[in-house]
Amino acid sequence: MRIPVLCYHNISRAPYFNVKRRSLHTTPLNFYLQMKLLHILGYKGLSVSDAWDYLMGKKFGKVVVLTFDDGYYDNFKNALPILKKFNFSATLFVVSDLIGSYNKWYYKEANMIKPLMNEDEIKIWIDSGMEIGSHTRTHPILTNLKEKELEDEIINSKEILERKFKVEIKHFCYPYGKYNDLVVSVVKKANYLSAWTLDRGRFKVGDDILRGKRINIPKDANIIRFYIKLFTSYEEKRALSIVQTIL
Ligand SMILES: [Zn+2]
Repeated sequence: MRIPVLCYHNISRAPYFNVKRRSLHTTPLNFYLQMKLLHILGYKGLSVSDAWDYLMGKKFGKVVVLTFDDGYYDNFKNALPILKKFNFSATLFVVSDLIGSYNKWYYKEANMIKPLMNEDEIKIWIDSGMEIGSHTRTHPILTNLKEKELEDEIINSKEILERKFKVEIKHFCYPYGKYNDLVVSVVKKANYLSAWTLDRGRFKVGDDILRGKRINIPKDANIIRFYIKLFTSYEEKRALSIVQTIL
């Protein structure tokens, strides 16, 4: 039994010119069609916490986990109404020191300033039955950091979010999907229940949940490709072919 854990970034149309990393954008229409397909097929989109019993193998059913990285304002504006329409929930991984700010860690590289949700918007997100998790304080490449710096990014971001929003922060997501054994050990020390990578594949009960695999939904994924990525062994095969190339 494999559970697709989807990774989204922006839910908006990418600007036409001069913007890099356009693949991080899913249009609101495509997102709507993807959620509608899940609904038609009898699947429920759930946050990591709402899906927890399924991930732990205590419950079985048609579920897909929905995650959003970085905490963009367009998730609030465009994804939240669609999630509510289908009665789905989702986990938003927030950069704790950049709430109400913008994508400071890569706006130059992307050639685009993307606003992040502010405190009030995140409160509405939570009050709508959605979840937030931590995506560090500043979105660094964690594998470049020393242990003390890792603790600041990983442990303190949890505390900052818990204090600000009065909810327990149970889940973590690695910026750029980058981690190593030291990074994972700090995540464990911070008492996160799960941590999510960009390693390809669907989650299998018993997998290491501090190195959770996800399915990235690229910008131009049409509905057939979306179906194949979620409900066939396509992603596992792709992951395998990447490993073989490296070897
Ligand atoms: Zn990120």
